[in-house]
Amino acid sequence: MISNLSVEHVTGHLLGRSEAGPVLLGSRCQSCGEHYFPATSSCTRCCGTQLSESVLGNHGELWSWTVQGFLPKSPYNSGESAEDFQPYGVGYVQLPCGLKVESRLTCADPQQLRIGMPMQLVEVDYGRSQERVLRTFAFAPASSPQEKQ
Ligand SMILES: [Zn+2]
Repeated sequence: MISNLSVEHVTGHLLGRSEAGPVLLGSRCQSCGEHYFPATSSCTRCCGTQLSESVLGNHGELWSWTVQGFLPKSPYNSGESAEDFQPYGVGYVQLPCGLKVESRLTCADPQQLRIGMPMQLVEVDYGRSQERVLRTFAFAPASSPQEKQ
């Protein structure tokens, strides 16, 4: 279990860092308990406005996935061209609280991805702008790919 007290905010309002590595930061409605990612200030379930920061954790199960096989249109900003684009996996990962988070996946091999597999949150470089390396969160398979066979 990840303690709220140990989280350091690192990437805007999306990610924190704990002793166990990066964690997703969201919000939770104090009235009905609904979770949100990214964090929000009002609840679409009960119209409540009392939401608090919630540490959503660093793992989940792959709920659905696909492979992005061509360069996405703007505002995607990896700095790649259509010629040097590297396909990447994208999917929904269901967190223990039930929330499904859309995320880049570290794996783009359909033979290594399966619905329901355990996933672990990581930080990855995905490109470069003129000024800096671009980083984001992603989910990586938490188990050995050979386990599927
Ligand atoms: Zn609510």
